[in-house]
This record gives sequence, C-alpha cells and structure tokens, in this order.
Amino acid sequence: MFRTFLATAILGLLPLSAAELKVAVLHPLLGDLARRVGGDRVEVIDLIGPNGDPHHFEPKPTDLKQAEGARIYFVAGMGLEGYLPKLKAVIANKATLVEVGATLPALAGKDEDEAEQAGHDHGHDIDPHWWHSIDRFRRATGIVTEALAAASPENATAFRSNAETYRNELDDLERWTRREISKIPRDKRHLATAHAAFNYFCKDFGFTAHPVQGLNREQMPDPKELAALVADLKKNHVAAIFPEKESNPKVLKTLTTDTGIRLGEPLIADGTGNLSYKQMVQRNVTAIVKALGTER
Ligand SMILES: [Zn+2]
Repeated sequence: MFRTFLATAILGLLPLSAAELKVAVLHPLLGDLARRVGGDRVEVIDLIGPNGDPHHFEPKPTDLKQAEGARIYFVAGMGLEGYLPKLKAVIANKATLVEVGATLPALAGKDEDEAEQAGHDHGHDIDPHWWHSIDRFRRATGIVTEALAAASPENATAFRSNAETYRNELDDLERWTRREISKIPRDKRHLATAHAAFNYFCKDFGFTAHPVQGLNREQMPDPKELAALVADLKKNHVAAIFPEKESNPKVLKTLTTDTGIRLGEPLIADGTGNLSYKQMVQRNVTAIVKALGTER
C-alpha cells in the first residue's frame, strides 16, 4: 500500500503531502479501520503485514524505521502484544500509543466450565480476540476516531463523519450476520476451531466454542485433553471442525478422521491476510453457515 502510494506520488499524480497525519498499526484490522476513518488525510503504516502472527510478532528496527514520523501507534491491546513495554520505550514521547482494546469489554481467557471439562489451561487472564465481536469493532471505531481527532484537530470533523458512515456499514454487517446465522438450527450452533480465537463471536452470536488449541496458537492438547474434546464434540453432535487460514495443525486432520466430523473451510482467526474487516467477517460467516446451516 505504502509502495503504491509512493509510486503514485513519484508519478506526480498525488502530492507527497496529501496525508496530513502518519500513524502506525500493529494489527492489520486496525489498519483497515484507521484507513476508513482517516481517508486520504491519514497515512497508515501497517507494521505486521498480511502474513504476520499477532501473537508472536515483534517489530524489528527496520519496521520501526518505516514508521518514523508516526504520531500514533495503534495496537489491539488486551495483552495480545507482549512486546508493548519495549515498543513504549522505543517511541518514548515521540508518539502516542493507543491500546484500542483497553477500554472494550473483555471476556475471560477461558470459559471456566468448558476449560474444566476439557482439562485446558490457556494461561491467559483475558481473551485478546475482541475483533470477532462486531459490536466491539464498532466501539473501536470511536476510539480510533478520537485518537486521530486529538492528533489532528483540524480534520476531526472529517474523521467523525467517516466514522459515522463506517459504523452504519458495521450495523449492516451485523444485521447480515444475524440473518445468515438464523439459517443454522440452534442446536447446531457449535463452533469447533483450531485455536481459541472465536469466543467473542460465539458469545455475540449464540454459539458454543470448542477450540482444539489454546488462545495463542501454540498450545496443543495432550492425549487426555484430546479425548475429552472428542467426547465433547460427539456429545454435542458438532457438524464441522474449522481449520484456520493462518494455521492448520495436524491434530485437526486426526480429529476429523477419528470422529468422522467433516473439515469446514478455513476461518480467518487473527485478522491477518489482505482482507478488510468486513470481508473477513463475511468470509468467516459464509464458511460457518455453509458447513452448519440447513441450506446447503
Ligand atoms: Zn489468535
């Protein structure tokens, strides 16, 4: 994106000073959000990129050089970015760090009952995957908007107007999601996924979550946990297990072979890839309805 911008600028089609405010994002979905609110008045540097893993990413000095001049760094927060103390030290008082998730309602790191049944211990106090709640993403729009407005008051009106438009689109997206999910019978609303990224989605849209792994993609179940999980999936007649676009652990293949439960299309769990927020939600919901819904 930045390269395209630069190339366009060099061709003289766009003055280099077109963007009045430079910001950096450490989650691609926040990049999408900042672009939607900022329009052409904000230059957004996406430090993690489409293939990054937000659980384990850490910006390198070359990344930070690219973000030089950024006045705001947006991060997802809720404990997702373990490197925040280091980043804070690097940007010092040159920029503002905004943890977008900090004031959003958080879910606990594990569902107590489920975790106990499955014998899981995810080791997180808070589940950081708040972006799978459209309602929280709508609230995040306000947080990003006010941060941009504070950094560039002369553009505040434009930012707030863009935010209004975007929030309306999110309203539509949420309505569409509810309509789609209504095609899934209530007793089929069980979402079995690779890592535990979809608790917010499940909570908002009435699903029970059955994650195979823990919260950060690397905790694999031991044989006892796996046996408990298989029993749980069978008991609830779970119709599909969804791999992830970002990772597809071998254990899913074993699970589908052992249980006869089919493998769904991959979901986008951590918001990476080249899709916008809306496209991510649409793709995930479509895959879920395709596998669990009655209209096949
Ligand atoms: Zn995740």
